[in-house]
Amino acid sequence: MSKEKCRKYLPRVVSGNFLNASALSEPDTGSDLASISCRAVLEGDEWVLTGNKYWCTFADGADYLALFARTSAPPSASKRWQGISCFLIEKERGKFPAGMTGSPIPKVGYFGWKTFELALDGVRVPKDCLMGEEGKAFLLMTKGLEGARAHTAARAIGLAQGALEDSITYALERKQFGMPIAEYQAIRFKIATMATEVEAARQLLYFVCSEIDSGRRCDKEASMVKYFASEMAERVTSEAMQIFGGAGYTKLFPVERYWRDARLTKIFEGTSEIQQRIIANNLLGKSELETMISARAFETQVARKGASK
Ligand SMILES: Cc1cc2nc3c(=O)[nH]c(=O)nc-3n(C[C@H](O)[C@H](O)[C@H](O)COP(=O)(O)OP(=O)(O)OC[C@H]3O[C@@H](n4cnc5c(N)ncnc54)[C@H](O)[C@@H]3O)c2cc1C
Repeated sequence: MSKEKCRKYLPRVVSGNFLNASALSEPDTGSDLASISCRAVLEGDEWVLTGNKYWCTFADGADYLALFARTSAPPSASKRWQGISCFLIEKERGKFPAGMTGSPIPKVGYFGWKTFELALDGVRVPKDCLMGEEGKAFLLMTKGLEGARAHTAARAIGLAQGALEDSITYALERKQFGMPIAEYQAIRFKIATMATEVEAARQLLYFVCSEIDSGRRCDKEASMVKYFASEMAERVTSEAMQIFGGAGYTKLFPVERYWRDARLTKIFEGTSEIQQRIIANNLLGKSELETMISARAFETQVARKGASK
């Protein structure tokens, strides 16, 4: 992106007046983001974008979309991350740009944001709206995901902390067999375990954030905290629901929301399995089986495209 454009956008981004939505995932591409198929073709001074995006959170309210599309064919299966570019698409809040339509996906939680499927049919954007180098946005994406994974871990920890605090209050107030349930060891140990898990995740998160702030790459550690914090949040919010008894399974207390929202943190910004894969690949190197499977999938994709021409 030109220096002029950076000067235009950055102060607005930093002041929170230019809000983002990220369009990476597609109907057929979630975990394997290097396989995206949304396309951008240069026509004169404009890029023309065509394809489908899925799961674009806050696409309606955002001021711009950071949308990933393929600008050239990948040279091979192992290099299919090449040829992906990122576009900054300016838009009006509450609307989609010309050539784009969107409809909300019915989720089970996280109602603070709507999440959209998007259809792009010849969306035109200026030539200089590329973020980073043409064809190299996958590297931008993986670096950006370190920060995004730390954010998701922080959200998971916040949900678990909320569940812990509400559980303590409830356990001290709720009486059964003539005593507050906080007197029973079964409940006390649950609270002790929940608090320990929340604190362990928080300390790991502080470490990851300091690595990110110091500019060091920490994809393994960012995956570790995203994995650990989101799994922890599901366990802790579920235990909170247990402490609330029947009341936990109602809409009368926030615990059900903590539990529903914590469940999502195991899925977006890369599932728990994908975090485990990143950690394992860092420790053991990439597995041959996985390399073989992805090469086969790539060949099938190329063959299918050839047949449909
Ligand atoms: C509410 C919500 C909001 C979202 N917001 C956004 C957004 O704003 N922008 C955006 O771009 N995306 C967004 N996403 C998409 C999200 O990042 C993907 O859903 C996620 O990465 C998983 O992709 P998928 O759903 O296609 O699952 P798939 O990739 O189809 O995976 C299905 C299952 O297979 C497992 N799996 C896949 N590959 C492997 C492997 N190699 N090894 C082991 N297990 C594997 C997965 O872990 C999972 O359990 C959002 C998703 C949700 C649910």
